[in-house]
Amino acid sequence: MTTDQNPSRVAVITGASSGIGEATARALVAAGLRVALLARRADRLQAIAGELGDAAIAIEADVTDRDALVAAAARVQDELGGADVLVNNAGVMLLGPFSSEQRADYRQMVEVNLLGAITATEVFLDQLRDGGGDLVNISSVAGRTARAGNAGYAATKWGVNGWSEGLRQELMPDVRVIVVEPGAVATELTDHITHEATKEATQDYVRDLAITAGDIAEVIAFAVTRPRRMTLNEILVRPTAQER
Ligand code: NDP
Repeated sequence: MTTDQNPSRVAVITGASSGIGEATARALVAAGLRVALLARRADRLQAIAGELGDAAIAIEADVTDRDALVAAAARVQDELGGADVLVNNAGVMLLGPFSSEQRADYRQMVEVNLLGAITATEVFLDQLRDGGGDLVNISSVAGRTARAGNAGYAATKWGVNGWSEGLRQELMPDVRVIVVEPGAVATELTDHITHEATKEATQDYVRDLAITAGDIAEVIAFAVTRPRRMTLNEILVRPTAQER
């Protein structure tokens, strides 16, 4: 495979304590990058970073807390020399019929999935620009097709897609913007759904269909190791048997 990327690049991954974020950390270290793992569950991050050895540091940070992200960026600069890749992966998917009972869920999804990604990017942007960086935004099939029961979640992922396209044009050619849109992936994502009937139905659906977090991580690792003359702008990855 041809690549003109510096193998000692540094990636910051939000939501690296489980699922796609954790798998991406492993895939990027296997590809020769060093990684900073960000999430709220410090114990999980420490365990993963411990396994990855010198190539990884763990930083407890909630993406809804700008001060925590600023402190994380300072550590990445000091300890790893700055970020070349930012993977905006932290997310929650709190599905259910639209109602006032779930208003806290809607606010949380916007604050984590959309504002969290925007804030992390704004905080790390100077580091990404310095030497040519990659911004990987984890969207979803729900960033392209909405359906009954996922309106709030789809709003955040459509938001990520629109924001990413604007940024792509604004940041080129210094920073490549790469949007990844997974279909059903087996992770902890559905565990947090608060509407019980929706949670059960979603877990049944995902159980039968899902691909692995490692499948998505390999795609991310491929995208960020391409020669800088090209960008995989938008990548839709569904299980082969997923209809929509
Ligand atoms: P997981 O629940 O396994 O991972 C979500 C990650 O986000 C965790 O590491 C969690 O860490 C972190 N997170 C949640 N809230 C915050 C917060 N406020 N601050 C920092 N980190 C936070 O699910 P996935 O791996 O599936 O999800 C990763 C991304 O992939 C999400 O953006 C999701 O929308 C997207 N996606 C997933 C699909 C799937 O089918 N699984 C399909 C399409 C997209 P912690 O709790 O420790 O903070």
